[in-house]
Amino acid sequence: MEVGGIQVELVRKDIKHLHLRVCPPDGRVRVSVPRRVNDATVRAMVASRLEWIRRQQARVVREGSRAKRELVTGETSWFEGRAYRLQVIEVDAAPSVGLRDGTMELRVRPGSDRSKREAVLEAWYRRKLQERIPALLAHWEPKVGVQVAECRTKLMKSRWGTCNVEARRIWLNLELAKMPVAHLEWILVHEMVHLLERRHNDRFRALLDRFLPDWRSRRDALNRPID
Ligand SMILES: [Zn+2]
Repeated sequence: MEVGGIQVELVRKDIKHLHLRVCPPDGRVRVSVPRRVNDATVRAMVASRLEWIRRQQARVVREGSRAKRELVTGETSWFEGRAYRLQVIEVDAAPSVGLRDGTMELRVRPGSDRSKREAVLEAWYRRKLQERIPALLAHWEPKVGVQVAECRTKLMKSRWGTCNVEARRIWLNLELAKMPVAHLEWILVHEMVHLLERRHNDRFRALLDRFLPDWRSRRDALNRPID
């Protein structure tokens, strides 16, 4: 079942109540359902808790990316808010990453070690994230009334984004490639508003309220400091 872009695994059991869980380590959503309860009821329940689910998944992604992963077949990989089963395919050809159904196929040359696999994945995440940025900038620059000189990506330990106001340069955390696009958009707009107001003060919040009225729920879903 899919609700609001989130894959939900249904398990029918002899139980009395619906039970929703976002499971570590991969953030899969599993609902245990009493046998008499129909799909429409499950769908409505999940839909009413989407925001909570996204928050939990964001937490799982954060915690999962702190833990050192082996990057082997069967692990969970995230892209734009969805969980994929990683499949490592050894093939004597240029390395690549592709998505097919629920699988992220990582093609590497035979014998590629963990750091090589990580480098291929990271380059792919960076490319995907950077592909998203021009359209977002084109949409938000006229709305916010600023021009961003440069928007770049890098892995950051403690920040989702930063903004160098003098250079009008924005840095986005590469981890955002794993998150729903709405999160990327929120971070980008936040940093763009810093070109109008450096500090997190009332004026800053008023500007956010004008440009992105639901920014508070987006912020709560990410739960990590933003510069
Ligand atoms: Zn900020």
